[in-house]
Amino acid sequence: PGGFLEVITGPMFAGKTTELIKRIERQAFARRKVALFKPSIDTRYSKEEVVAHNGLRYEAFVVPTDENGVRRIMETTIREGFEVIGIDEVQFFPIEIVDVLNRLADEGVYVIASGLNLDFKGDPFPVTRELLVRADNIVYLTAVCTVCGRPATRSQRLIDGKPAPRNSPVILVGGRESYEARCREHHIVPEE
Ligand code: ADP
Ligand code: MG
Repeated sequence: PGGFLEVITGPMFAGKTTELIKRIERQAFARRKVALFKPSIDTRYSKEEVVAHNGLRYEAFVVPTDENGVRRIMETTIREGFEVIGIDEVQFFPIEIVDVLNRLADEGVYVIASGLNLDFKGDPFPVTRELLVRADNIVYLTAVCTVCGRPATRSQRLIDGKPAPRNSPVILVGGRESYEARCREHHIVPEE
């Protein structure tokens, strides 16, 4: 009863984490039992908190990005009776998280999942894609293109300031030094 699956997506710097924290905070003010989860590989700013690029932060459960992490999210939510859960950087978890979050929503939990739309090559992250088509509500955010200032829907990976080639690894956790928000026109993926 009252379960809901909400997906916040977009490129890096779109304000996904800010929006997630804002929504979790509002639910806490409404006296719902809330919890925020984040993957252990995202330790860019803090180990125990979800931190946005603008400094906004919120206490979080840190879980590994494997089946154990997915199980921890499910078990912690059920055991503690959390009514609202947020998951940041959801694209880093294995695909099993889709079913788990969908089922928790069926069981009455308000699930808010925040994740990247596309990898640096412009290909969808499967977890985000599968969550999006099951969502009860989608919040699609854009950033500002660092080249032209138009709305940015893509994440440009840079190596020594130059666009990263297609054959570089998909997952590379980084901030402003290795990624920029770009529009379709200014998103560049060299073949080599
Ligand atoms: P996300 O989780 O989507 O990466 P955050 O919520 O962590 O985004 O950070 C959003 C903040 O990033 C913005 O409020 C702004 O202060 C900052 N920012 C830095 N670069 C950009 C950009 N190119 N476009 C928009 N916001 C940017
Ligand atoms: Mg974020």
